[in-house]
Amino acid sequence: MLICPNCKSKDLGKIGVNQYYCWGCFIELSVAKGKILTHQVEEDGTLSSLDDLFSDDDRSISM
Ligand SMILES: [Zn+2]
Repeated sequence: MLICPNCKSKDLGKIGVNQYYCWGCFIELSVAKGKILTHQVEEDGTLSSLDDLFSDDDRSISM
C-alpha cells in the first residue's frame, strides 16, 4: 500500500507507470527502486522535487 509521505493519505490516483497523484495534498508521487519520489507541480507546470523534506524512512515503501 502506497501512502503519501507528505500528508499520510492513501487516496492516491494512478496517473502513469509508477506515477501517482495525491488527492490529499496535490503532489505527484513516483516510485523508483522502492523509494517514493515527491514532486510539486508549480503554477507554470514545472515539477519541483520535495524529496529534501522527507527522510529515507518516510519515502521507503513498505510492502
Ligand atoms: Zn499527500
